Amino acid sequence: MALLPILKYPDPRLRIKAQPVTHVDDALRRSVEDMYETMYASKGVGLAGTQVNIHLRIFTMDVSASGNERICVLNPEILHQEGVLYESEGCLSVLNAYDKVKRAQKVHMRGMDLDGKPIELKAEGLMAVCIQHEVDHLNGMLFIDHLSRLKQDRIRKKTEKNQPRD
Ligand code: ZN
Repeated sequence: MALLPILKYPDPRLRIKAQPVTHVDDALRRSVEDMYETMYASKGVGLAGTQVNIHLRIFTMDVSASGNERICVLNPEILHQEGVLYESEGCLSVLNAYDKVKRAQKVHMRGMDLDGKPIELKAEGLMAVCIQHEVDHLNGMLFIDHLSRLKQDRIRKKTEKNQPRD
């Protein structure tokens, strides 16, 4: 297992749209283990492949307080969403930025597990927000894209100042 470097905004690779997973093999399972390790080490509740430069439609998530309820979804697809929720969000790829984002309160999603079997998941609250946030990543979107232009400019300026690009 290994900790993976997390891409940081405004890295253009965060804008790549991830490709569907077509088959599950040991290499992919190892990548997912690394994603869990990286997510837990960074104290995140979710991590999308895109954030660790793996441009496949995968995310890991654990919104439990105990930190032992791992969920990994391949090729996630949101089938239905309802309600409105404004929760403060942050992102391991956008340092020192937190803001409220308008999200659906409930989502119904489907995808595939690490055995290649279809799964369905109904989520609400924090888990629903996390799913929408991670699916955004796989589409090359960041939570700050949902904020006003003014707020986005402020975050970009702050990020550029604090973080020399490598
Ligand atoms: Zn994120």
